[in-house]
Amino acid sequence: MGLITMAMIGRNTRVYLADTTDMVEEARVIHDTSPVATAALGRTLTAASIMGKMLKGDKDKLTLQIKGKGLIRSMVVVAWPSGDVKVTISDPKVDLEETPQGKLDVSGAVGLDGEVIVIRDYGLKDPYIGRSPLVSGEIAEDLAYYYAHSEQQPSIIALGVLADPIKKVAAAGGFFAQTMPDISEEEIAALEADIAVMPGISGIIGLEATPEEKLQKLFPGLPVTIKATYEVKLTCDCSKEKLSKALITVGEKALREMLEEDKQAELHCHFCQKAYHFDEADLKDLIKASQKK
Ligand SMILES: [Zn+2]
Repeated sequence: MGLITMAMIGRNTRVYLADTTDMVEEARVIHDTSPVATAALGRTLTAASIMGKMLKGDKDKLTLQIKGKGLIRSMVVVAWPSGDVKVTISDPKVDLEETPQGKLDVSGAVGLDGEVIVIRDYGLKDPYIGRSPLVSGEIAEDLAYYYAHSEQQPSIIALGVLADPIKKVAAAGGFFAQTMPDISEEEIAALEADIAVMPGISGIIGLEATPEEKLQKLFPGLPVTIKATYEVKLTCDCSKEKLSKALITVGEKALREMLEEDKQAELHCHFCQKAYHFDEADLKDLIKASQKK
């Protein structure tokens, strides 16, 4: 379970603070991610959970994809308006040397040459797709660039994952802060002063403190007013029916081979890794369905 807190910083800045420690640890176990992959996926998961919570309609759905030329290749997080997410990563085992500063090389694992892709599905015929280039591979900067250029919504974004020496996630989370158009010069100056000396986000998330106290540590120059808190979780919406549809697309010939050679097939959901078993009768049904195509 994770927690998203929505609050106002001063009068005209809305902030969403997420503590996703348990969710990122769960994702690490499911996908057996290396430390640098845990950091990259954890940051992306946290961002998508907040972006999901920012959706307006109950039936909306958001997909955040970070696609780079680095060894990770691609991370996909699907988020619902509840803030619940499902996550997948192309190469969870990426192992890179730490940076000269002793930090996990997230930028190196993601790669600089690539893009942020945001798909918003409002239940209409075509989803809205926004894209922008990766500018740092560190995820938070890439998303801030995306919001500024693709959505014309300047945003202050911080994302972090702290993994202890035995790989387990000690703290993970982040925040999105967006200012409203009628913000005063004084409030902008106070925000800028706070950002200039802001402590690392994962250190703040790991503190034994309330969300309000954590926000006040991040933004000491302005009063914090908590508006709402939401529980969020790692989830999945897979089913045998959905996996069947995926299996049908391999075509009749491949399905017949599975039936003749193995008399069965097993498919894993890319997101939650749950195994789905298809027996002889299932495969025969799928062959019939593939013929109708
Ligand atoms: Zn699943």
